[in-house]
Amino acid sequence: MKSPDTLDVAAHCARAALAMMERHKVPPHPENYAIWYAYVAGRNPDLTAAIDAILQSGKKFTAKVNDELYERFAVFPQDTAELREVGQRVEEAVGRVLEYLSNANQGTSNYGAALEDFSGKLADGPSAAGLSELISGILAETKVMADLNRQLEQRLENSSNEVARLRNHLDDLKREASTDALTQLANRKLFDHSLNLAVLDARAADAPLSLLMIDIDHFKQFNDTYGHQLGDQVLKLVARSLSEVAQAKDTAARYGGEEFAVILPATPLEKSMEVAETIRNQVSTKRLTNRRTGQVLGQVTLSIGAALLREAEAPDSLVHRADEAMYLAKRDGRNRVKSEIDLEKPTGEAAK
Ligand code: GH3
Ligand code: MG
Ligand code: MG
Repeated sequence: MKSPDTLDVAAHCARAALAMMERHKVPPHPENYAIWYAYVAGRNPDLTAAIDAILQSGKKFTAKVNDELYERFAVFPQDTAELREVGQRVEEAVGRVLEYLSNANQGTSNYGAALEDFSGKLADGPSAAGLSELISGILAETKVMADLNRQLEQRLENSSNEVARLRNHLDDLKREASTDALTQLANRKLFDHSLNLAVLDARAADAPLSLLMIDIDHFKQFNDTYGHQLGDQVLKLVARSLSEVAQAKDTAARYGGEEFAVILPATPLEKSMEVAETIRNQVSTKRLTNRRTGQVLGQVTLSIGAALLREAEAPDSLVHRADEAMYLAKRDGRNRVKSEIDLEKPTGEAAK
């Protein structure tokens, strides 16, 4: 086994060994030198103890004593110490791997068993050749394991990429299934679902829940005059306005055709009418032009009805009342906001 000492350390040990040999009148044969070098380097605790004992006793280093020391300690003395150290390190490493494996618990029992076998053999105190063979064995087993791990890692990465792709795809599908393609608002299905949840939440929190039903005025006429494509642009414009005004907690939806709805959680009726008025105002003050021809298009207006959830009321009933208020707004002249309170007023009063 090669000496692990650096040149500096080796030179220092050599000088110190030769100096001690001279002091104690030990002839500098290669055999004696090997013993004293090992002593100075402190490689072998047993050798250190033996020489220290002789030094303390004041005995002379006779040829007989020197031969005995050589007999006892020169047969691979440093290999013995290093062997022990390496064996210990390997055992520690194997222990760590065993620990890791038992934690990881990934069906690596074969490798674990092989390592335990090595570990047992290491504990028997193998010779240099035996240790080298054991280490080769461990390396071979570890290579197999590392290859398996790499494969496993690759597979895990592939499958997690696949899962991420699938999840994104699923998210897209869910979004598509609940989004109106033209306006990108919640579609009728998501509106129904969101309203059911909002009603439950409002009840649980004892909070007000308002609903706006919105219908574009004389939209058939708009389509007839300017064409369906420009009609679609108007639907998008109204949707943009709803999205702008709606907060994160609110749900703006395309209820169907040219009808929209906004669910307003934690919003009293008064406040919902302010929101409705903002929407109505925004849309009615937009100057619409046909970008292609520059033609100025007629004003687009909205009729909006607002209703507030009542105690123990079903979502359908709330929608119905908001719708009623919206029709009242139509009857009352369009381009206006009406609430369920206006419904209770005698006919004629509402027109004021
Ligand atoms: P009112 O003021 O009473 O609501 O009159 P209106 O013309 O808006 O109502 P009506 O129900 O008679 O007509 C609704 C029109 O909305 C008819 C239909 O062509 C139009 N519409 C519905 N969906 C779409 C759409 O996706 N794109 C376009 N461009 N028009 C649509
Ligand atoms: Mg309509
Ligand atoms: Mg309409």
